[in-house]
Amino acid sequence: MSELIRMTAAELSEKLRAKEVSSVEVTQAHLDRIAEVDGDVHAFLHISENALTTAAAIDAARLDGTEHSPLAGVPIAIKDVLCTVDMPSTAGSKILEGWVPPYDATVVRRLREAGLVPLGKTNMDEFAMGSSTEHSAYGPTRNPWDLERIPGGSGGGSAAAVAAFEAPVALGSDTGGSIRQPAAVTGSVGVKPTYGAVSRYGAIALASSLDQVGPVSRTVLDSALVQDIIGGHDPHDSTSLTDGWPSFADAARQGLAERSFKGVRVGVVKQFQGEGFQAGVQQRFDESLELLAKNGAEIVEIDAPSFEYAVAAYYLILPAEASSNLAKFDSVRFGLRVSPPGATVDKVMAATREEGFGDEVKRRIILGTYALSAGYYDAYYGSAQKVRTLIQRDFASAFEKVDVLVSPAAPTTAFKLGEKLDDPLAMYLNDITTIPANLAGVPGMGLPIGLAPEDGLPVGMQLMAPAREDARLYRHGAALESLLEEQWGGSLLAQAPALEPAEMEAARDGAV
Ligand code: GLN
Repeated sequence: MSELIRMTAAELSEKLRAKEVSSVEVTQAHLDRIAEVDGDVHAFLHISENALTTAAAIDAARLDGTEHSPLAGVPIAIKDVLCTVDMPSTAGSKILEGWVPPYDATVVRRLREAGLVPLGKTNMDEFAMGSSTEHSAYGPTRNPWDLERIPGGSGGGSAAAVAAFEAPVALGSDTGGSIRQPAAVTGSVGVKPTYGAVSRYGAIALASSLDQVGPVSRTVLDSALVQDIIGGHDPHDSTSLTDGWPSFADAARQGLAERSFKGVRVGVVKQFQGEGFQAGVQQRFDESLELLAKNGAEIVEIDAPSFEYAVAAYYLILPAEASSNLAKFDSVRFGLRVSPPGATVDKVMAATREEGFGDEVKRRIILGTYALSAGYYDAYYGSAQKVRTLIQRDFASAFEKVDVLVSPAAPTTAFKLGEKLDDPLAMYLNDITTIPANLAGVPGMGLPIGLAPEDGLPVGMQLMAPAREDARLYRHGAALESLLEEQWGGSLLAQAPALEPAEMEAARDGAV
């Protein structure tokens, strides 16, 4: 295994800038790794044919002395929900099989302009609906820690690519936890930025008032470096904030230098403790709180009663918005068309949607259409919007008392493939701790805090901050990461048992 794939984006950036290594070499090392392990992991739906050409162009520009962004020449994996002009963009759905968009998502354009090298598109639950990547029309992704287990979802592909060293960094999207929960169960870092901090232009919409694009990485600093590039105002997205943003990489570096929580008030959400949380998850979470307290944090319990209704409200608001967003897949404008002989327009549309959408997508379209229908609108959608307001108020009153809120990033470690596939409610409850941040628009970060004693699988902590305070997450997240790594003697992912294909094979056969 090449040393290069073990490096973080920040480390690669230094080597590239010092011309100790070329982008072609770095890119080739990752393509080799993908060839070696992705048959098992299945993080990618599509590998770019342009990666090496792009890398060569960046190397040539560097030799010419052209100014580069800090991450120029660093490879990146891109969730398949994001439009890319040179690769299919399917959102994990059969209805968009082979569809190549006419434009790049703003975040993708910004990556290209900054000289990052897109490696390919990563697997996901269809239209980002799910917590396991099992709802992909193209087969599941497997967790590199244990190939019998799920890598989280919907962005399991991006998290698994990063955790399996197939890419140093990736992009994801998070509507209810799809960046943070996969990060939690794969031992990686993932950030859902403040709503409006990162453009959604060219991100295939699930629920427009909840969706945010964000970074996935192996360190807090790497996520910060990526958000610095993809974030900021975009006139193409009417919900994009016009704020100026500080450097998140500087915030992360500040945290790494401080390694302290002196004067920081950390709120522990009372509702996200105990029952329903795996013992080892709770144990690692409690130990992390002790570590924070030992390093100066003031730990405060926060009561947020409305958070108990977040999942229920989310599963009315999300399907309502999704049913409207997915109406555009009508067999006329995009992708698949199924035309039974002699069929009318209506029948072609129905046959296409019947064949092109999977069960979970159909379930949510039906739920959403029902919740929005005349006579039920106030009872369901209207009530859910009221709960959303209460959740926003609970956040506002919490942030009067504390600087950051914390909870486990997921209630359990990675579960087995198939375990929750036939039980939608069990699947929905995976996002119990991550959903409130989407409903309120506040930023959240998932980061690894250890391995659960009972199964040896990664446990994640979630950090949340007030809207627009993404820098606070990077600063405190980096400080916590640094304190934890001191205990572990390096990064958590260095302990992953399934890094070599042979070990992965053994894991799949149940021998590990
Ligand atoms: N798992 C959640 C859902 O199924 C979150 C999805 C997401 O964030 N895209 O809706």
